[in-house]
Amino acid sequence: MIRPLHKLWLVVVSLVLATGLAAQAQNEPASTSVQPMSVDSRISAALQQVSAERIQANIEKLVSFGTRLTLSAQDPSSIAAGRGIGAAREWIKSEFERYSKDCGGCLEVKTDSFTEPAADRIPQPTEITNVYAVLKGTDAESAKRIVLVTGHYDSRPSDTLDTKADAPGANDDGSGTAVSLECARVLSKLKFPATIIFLTVAGEEQGLNGSHHFAVMLKEKMAKEGWNLEAALNNDIVGGDKSAEQDHSVVRVFSEGLPASATEQEIRRIRGLGGENDSGSRQLARYIADVGRAYDVGVKPILVFRLDRYLRGGDHSAFNQQGFTAVRFTEFREDFHHQHQNVRSENGIQYGDLAKFVDFDYVGRVARLNAATLASLASAPAPPANAHLLTKDLENDSTLTWEASPGGRAAEYEVLWRSTTSPEWEHVQKVGNVARTTLKLSKDNVIFAVRAVDAAGHRGLPVVPLPER
Ligand SMILES: [Zn+2]
Repeated sequence: MIRPLHKLWLVVVSLVLATGLAAQAQNEPASTSVQPMSVDSRISAALQQVSAERIQANIEKLVSFGTRLTLSAQDPSSIAAGRGIGAAREWIKSEFERYSKDCGGCLEVKTDSFTEPAADRIPQPTEITNVYAVLKGTDAESAKRIVLVTGHYDSRPSDTLDTKADAPGANDDGSGTAVSLECARVLSKLKFPATIIFLTVAGEEQGLNGSHHFAVMLKEKMAKEGWNLEAALNNDIVGGDKSAEQDHSVVRVFSEGLPASATEQEIRRIRGLGGENDSGSRQLARYIADVGRAYDVGVKPILVFRLDRYLRGGDHSAFNQQGFTAVRFTEFREDFHHQHQNVRSENGIQYGDLAKFVDFDYVGRVARLNAATLASLASAPAPPANAHLLTKDLENDSTLTWEASPGGRAAEYEVLWRSTTSPEWEHVQKVGNVARTTLKLSKDNVIFAVRAVDAAGHRGLPVVPLPER
């Protein structure tokens, strides 16, 4: 007796479900799901050239200078004897010069030297030298855009004032220095519209002195010569220390939430808009995740939404402080017996940052991820300028406006959005080569960004629009 009624209910329920699904499908077409960036075959071919053997040779060479403490010797006789930071500096310079020779002088090899006044960890005024190579962009306008990779070539023993003790610094940060060098060797074989800088800094262990000086210099150049540093990748402790609990399949990417350089007014706006997860550095971190999904680099970037490891710091923050977009790469699990420790054996434990603890294949995979990110960004158009979200009228649609990507290389624009609780961009809408679009989505419920894409499909960094009344 109950059966016919049951059947009727089934029909009703099915109808309601079908209608509901159809309505949902209309509101959220599956085609808006974000897909990984398209692979540039030129870039993937370059990644194949990254060599773990060369990385090993470079890290072992850096270790051979005994100590690279910023306060260690840099006089001509110590350089000739091959001990101290001066010898390391000269060798890095000669490596960059060698790569440049191999590409017909395509790299400009430079030093940035200055005298750091006495401070906490600097007993007397000390000369600090950053060494870097510039692969200038081929497009006159785009060449003013810079992407940069950095590692610190200074090291330290247990006591950061001890100039005599050995400080091999194979992982911290011979590994990051080797990433900058290997990216330079491999990418200098290619040409890009934008400029890439391969940087190695000193003074990190004494107080981020080298990176601070370099970031300030770039900021001044930006103001005077119209340069723009779009992204800085800092590699510090990417050696994949061979401890039992290491995860060699991932690398951490740290990014700041509230920008270190934000003014009180900017922080008020970020608070009002729920923009705590949308600093430029966090867009860069998401971009790296995108690169990691598209290219077969052999290591997965895992995003950590935190400036750095808990209560610790590094060179990317010196760039953040000058208002630049910068992130830090670090291995998954550090071994503190192998960092900032004099080389010694105690109770059966080997202390010291020795080359034998470094996994050179892992450093190679991290170098590939860095090279793919640098090459993708240097190939892509600049982010669109002055992106805004119109808020004059209260409405449930959202209208975005922007100015063309500077440099004229954008073929089209894409609007991205995600739920406010989602770590990464979820949806994308191609909107063509326009400067304004309206989406049937409420700005109250999602976070928007807009990015420029070139004719070959290279994606630029997304930029989150500011409200415009
Ligand atoms: Zn370090």
